[in-house]
Amino acid sequence: MSGITTETPTATDHRERYESVVAELRLKLEQMENQLLENGASGREPPGIYDFHTHTFLSDGVLSPIELTRRAIVNGYAALGIADHCGAGTMARAIEETTSEAELAFRHWNFRVFAGVELTHVPASSVAELAAEAKRLRATHVVVHGESPVEPVEPGTNLAAVSCPDVDILAHPGLLTAEEARIAAETGVFLEITAKDGHSLGNGRVYALAREAGADCLLNSDTHVPSHLLTAEFVRTVASGAGVTEEELGLILRVNPERLIERIEARQCEE
Ligand SMILES: [Zn+2]
Ligand SMILES: [Zn+2]
Repeated sequence: MSGITTETPTATDHRERYESVVAELRLKLEQMENQLLENGASGREPPGIYDFHTHTFLSDGVLSPIELTRRAIVNGYAALGIADHCGAGTMARAIEETTSEAELAFRHWNFRVFAGVELTHVPASSVAELAAEAKRLRATHVVVHGESPVEPVEPGTNLAAVSCPDVDILAHPGLLTAEEARIAAETGVFLEITAKDGHSLGNGRVYALAREAGADCLLNSDTHVPSHLLTAEFVRTVASGAGVTEEELGLILRVNPERLIERIEARQCEE
């Protein structure tokens, strides 16, 4: 009889077991909370994707600005920048049309779309005047199509872009020099790490020179078709392929994009 008594769980046994399970769960919860706090503090987990360089059918992309926006939201974007290829005669139309789509997205989806331009294959000596004109026409940001390793962009374009106060981003500047990176660090022009095939051949060089000079980088997709839009996973792959370390990810993927947005919003307040 006594054997049966000791083997049958008593109320005290149940309570002890219950308390140990609760204690275990509490510990796990605490560990998860600490992990979340740590990630938030170090900026390792960005809240969404930022991408300031995409194309629509206003240049050589295939989507309308609003469809591109919808697809970006579905991909988990925090904000989207549209920067269609422009020259002197095409920028007014692109800025106006993209701006009205951006306003629509903000009113109905509370989603931020920035209506910029990408000055593409324009004479290097015209970059400053065209960038100023784009800003006068209320482009939110000016991207310059940089000296990529895969296109015959006019030499001097990278230098003109990093030297110009109206330029915000020098895109895919694969043939960047140390001197141009140093100037970008001074003027605050962001240097682009690109997810676009071909242009991305220069990413390693660009990031190494930017880090050395203390210039700020952004990661953009240069989307032309829906499959080019970034995903959280692909962003990390492209960044690490460029040489961005785990510790630097938060800076490139969240802090620098938010700084560009602050700059854009400060300009909008002045207008
Ligand atoms: Zn480009
Ligand atoms: Zn582009």
